[in-house]
Amino acid sequence: SYAINEVSKNFNQLEVLKDFNMEIVEHKVTCILGPSGCGKTTLLNLLSGILESDSGSISGFQSKTISYLFQEPRLLSWKTTAQNVEYILKDCMSAPERKAIVEKVLTMVQLWEYKDYYTDKISGGMQQRLAIARAFAYPAEILLMDEPFKSLDLEIKLSLFRCFHDLWKLDQRTVVLVTHDIHDALILGDEIYILSKKPTTVREKIINNVPHKCRNLKDKQTLLLE
Ligand code: ATP
Repeated sequence: SYAINEVSKNFNQLEVLKDFNMEIVEHKVTCILGPSGCGKTTLLNLLSGILESDSGSISGFQSKTISYLFQEPRLLSWKTTAQNVEYILKDCMSAPERKAIVEKVLTMVQLWEYKDYYTDKISGGMQQRLAIARAFAYPAEILLMDEPFKSLDLEIKLSLFRCFHDLWKLDQRTVVLVTHDIHDALILGDEIYILSKKPTTVREKIINNVPHKCRNLKDKQTLLLE
C-alpha cells in the first residue's frame, strides 16, 4: 500500500492540506469525497508528482507508473476516438499490441463502432466513456481520476459505472477516484475518505473500510445493469 504521512500543502496564505494522513491500498478503489475547494485535486496532483508538498511524505508513488484522468479529459479533437487511445500508448508498446488494446477498451465502452469519429463529433457522454477507456488503456500501476462522472444524468452515469467496473475488473488496478457524490463512492469505492472544508486545519478519514458492503453493492450494480 501507499502512505501519505503528515502532508501539508499551502498556496501562499491558503492552507489546503495540513498534516494529512491517508493510506491507499493496492488493487482497490479509493474514493475521495469532499466539498468544492477542500483540496481533492490538490491531493491528486501531489500523488502524481505534479505538485510537491510543503512537508510530510508520500511513499510508494515515486517508483510507480501513473495514469491521470484530469477533470477536463483533454481529448485530442483532431484525432479520432481510436487514435486518442492509441496515441498515449505509442511509447510503451508495439503497433499490434496497441491495436489490440484499442479495440478491447473501445469495445468495452461501446465505442468501437465510433472508432473513426473525431472526438468533437461524439456526444459528451461518449467523450467521457472514451476518457475513462483511455485512462485504463494506459498500462499504469496506479490510476488517478478526477471527477470522471461529473454532471451526468443517471442513465449515462450508470453506463459509465458499468464501464468503469468492467475495466477495473480486468486487472484490478489501484485507483484513486475523486468525486462529489457519496453515491458514486458507495457504489464504486472499496475505501472512502471524506475531506472536510472546515476546520481547514483538520482533514479526516471519516469512513474507511466500508468495503464488504460496497463489494456487494458492486455486484448488485452489475446485476442491475445486466
Ligand atoms: P473542486 O471540487 O472544486 O474541484 P477541490 O477539492 O479539487 O475542488 P482544489 O482544486 O484542490 O479543490 O483546490 C483547493 C484550494 O486551493 C482552492 O481554494 C483553490 O482555489 C486553491 N488552489 C488550487 N490550486 C492552486 C494554485 N495553483 N494556486 C493557488 N491556489 C490554488
